[in-house]
Amino acid sequence: MDPYKALKNAVANNRLSHAYLLTGGHIEKNQAATFLAQSRFCKSLSAEGEPCGKCSNCERIASGTHPNVKKIARQDSQMIKVDQIRDMKAQLAMSGAEEKAQVFIVEEAEKINASSGASLLKVLEEPAAGDLLILLTDAPNQMLPTIISRVQIIKFDDVEDEFDEEMRERLQVVNVFLKRLIAKNPRALTTDQIDLVNEFKTKDEQKLSLKYMLTLEEAFLFSPAGKRDLPLTEKLLSETSLAEKMMAFNVSYKNVLMHLASKIVLGV
Ligand SMILES: [Zn+2]
Repeated sequence: MDPYKALKNAVANNRLSHAYLLTGGHIEKNQAATFLAQSRFCKSLSAEGEPCGKCSNCERIASGTHPNVKKIARQDSQMIKVDQIRDMKAQLAMSGAEEKAQVFIVEEAEKINASSGASLLKVLEEPAAGDLLILLTDAPNQMLPTIISRVQIIKFDDVEDEFDEEMRERLQVVNVFLKRLIAKNPRALTTDQIDLVNEFKTKDEQKLSLKYMLTLEEAFLFSPAGKRDLPLTEKLLSETSLAEKMMAFNVSYKNVLMHLASKIVLGV
């Protein structure tokens, strides 16, 4: 199942786990962490489990200033220190400043060593109602098995990881194209499209560029900006999926892009 759908369903049905391990795509796992935190505190959560992205809680979470959502990252040391985990435990034991629930986001969770891990296990074993622990990692294989076994793992595809550095650089034209589409900038209909056609010559590369665009759009869907214009974001996703299908039916890359840009920019 699509990891985003799984998370949304869990929020909508009030079945969120108390601890998640998010792995894979860099953009997506960070967006998903924000999404999870917002789903805890949003003042007008939709029936489908979508935080609104606009209320004061959603905004403060997006800007990293919500008092009940805290990040833990290793400082200058190699590992996350046991003191940092102990401090988190102490904070979890107290009520928060505004509401009781607290959300902790641990970056590079593979940097939790054995002694910090032992301290963390207690939190995982005796969660307080409403508290949410989100661990992020690019290296789940380096994590302590005792932690892995007590969290729900959500894996995001990392399209970017499939490519070498050169390819990642080349894919930047896709970023530019998508930004202009979102802004409904008419350049998406002309220069940006030509850039894409010039950059990706083989059918495989062209398909890959669309796949990459879909990944960016999925991440956008979970960002505050994407939520502000949900109809546009959903249209982008459906039109890009259609573009992939058109490619499969041997429509030329140029015509596929033209179709996509016309639908989004001109609405025709
Ligand atoms: Zn909200």
